[in-house]
Amino acid sequence: MVSCNRRTDVFIIGGGPAGLATAIAARQLGLSATIADGTEPPIDKACGEGLMPETIAALSELGVGIHLGQGFRFRGIRFFGGRHSAGAEFPQGPGLGIRRTLLHEYLIRRAEACGAQLLWQTPVVGLCSAGVQLPREVVAARWIVGADGSGSRVRRWAGLDRATREKQRFAVRRHYALAPWSEYVEIYWSRRAQAYVTPIGRKEVCVVILAEELGDADCDAFLRHCPELRERLAGGSISSRERGAITLMHSLSAVHAGNIALVGDASGGVDAITGEGLRLAFRQAIALAAAMKKGRLARYGRTHRALARKPMLMGDLLLLLGRNEWIRSRALRMLNQHPQVFARMLALHSGNAEWPDLVSAGAQLGWRFLTA
Ligand SMILES: Cc1cc2nc3c(=O)[nH]c(=O)nc-3n(C[C@H](O)[C@H](O)[C@H](O)COP(=O)(O)OP(=O)(O)OC[C@H]3O[C@@H](n4cnc5c(N)ncnc54)[C@H](O)[C@@H]3O)c2cc1C
Repeated sequence: MVSCNRRTDVFIIGGGPAGLATAIAARQLGLSATIADGTEPPIDKACGEGLMPETIAALSELGVGIHLGQGFRFRGIRFFGGRHSAGAEFPQGPGLGIRRTLLHEYLIRRAEACGAQLLWQTPVVGLCSAGVQLPREVVAARWIVGADGSGSRVRRWAGLDRATREKQRFAVRRHYALAPWSEYVEIYWSRRAQAYVTPIGRKEVCVVILAEELGDADCDAFLRHCPELRERLAGGSISSRERGAITLMHSLSAVHAGNIALVGDASGGVDAITGEGLRLAFRQAIALAAAMKKGRLARYGRTHRALARKPMLMGDLLLLLGRNEWIRSRALRMLNQHPQVFARMLALHSGNAEWPDLVSAGAQLGWRFLTA
């Protein structure tokens, strides 16, 4: 017989970045919040470990301030592809590279300080009319949040599995112990894969390889074909266990049903090459908490759709560059010749762009592309 003697305003399934951010945002609005995660910290995951300036701004709204000495501040993004390279700085200030486990620790500390209840090693095994089923008890909740990652079971339990698009790629992540050689996140493009390199500490860089085919998501194979990056990494030793992951361009037709809502990767996501997953998760968390406070999840559905539009567009553009060598080479040459166009694109990518800005930047990009 299972007892049901606990009650909470918000029960969050999954204690990754999205779940913790939702608990913090809910507590900031005075709602009681409980999180259950089947594992326990430190929770690691294959991630590019880059926080864009807007991601840092969202963290700051959640009251998560990262100590200046931690991580590595990067100034912008630089692309390398064959004979061409192009780079631009963020106009809003730097981004931050930080080990995934360290970011998780910051979020946990903030969630605890806000008074959220954190249940580790507590897998949620189902939902029932009384609430959320844990292995030995049922917890009653006004709102139930699925923050259980891209393979979400909550999504299935709630009948929210209908996708409007789903495109997967493969990724592996590796750390190297060596001093970063650049103050930029660097993306190296090769024929069948990309390497996404983030400086994350005074003596550490994070390398993620992204590819459409599983066999191409391979660090050593990538480095064999990319002498530029191989030479840069040559002085460093591998400093972490390699981790694999799937990255998705994934949209759902709905992200809430009844008193259940999805957040973070459980609610859909954008390819890792955009570096936008965490920003989306934090912004969704803030919007979801506000909607729960008002008692109107429909409002969350609308904000969720609006938040996803720009990263999806950028994701499509970057995937196109990855797939088509001719377009990529022409685009890199154009961005190299017109650094101001790259700076504008980056400002829109990493900031709060409005649609007229996007349309005008898109027209400028298209024109430069055609005339490059
Ligand atoms: C290769 C790669 C590189 C990336 N690089 C970047 C980057 O540089 N910058 C960026 O912003 N984003 C990046 N992202 C995206 C970012 O990592 C994700 O968007 C983010 O991790 C989503 O967090 P989440 O909390 O939604 O999911 P997760 O981090 O997957 O957390 C889900 C949690 O739910 C728990 N869980 C699952 N089922 C249950 C259950 N039944 N009961 C209890 N707990 C459960 C799991 O244990 C887990 O802790 C990258 C992604 C990939 C794959």
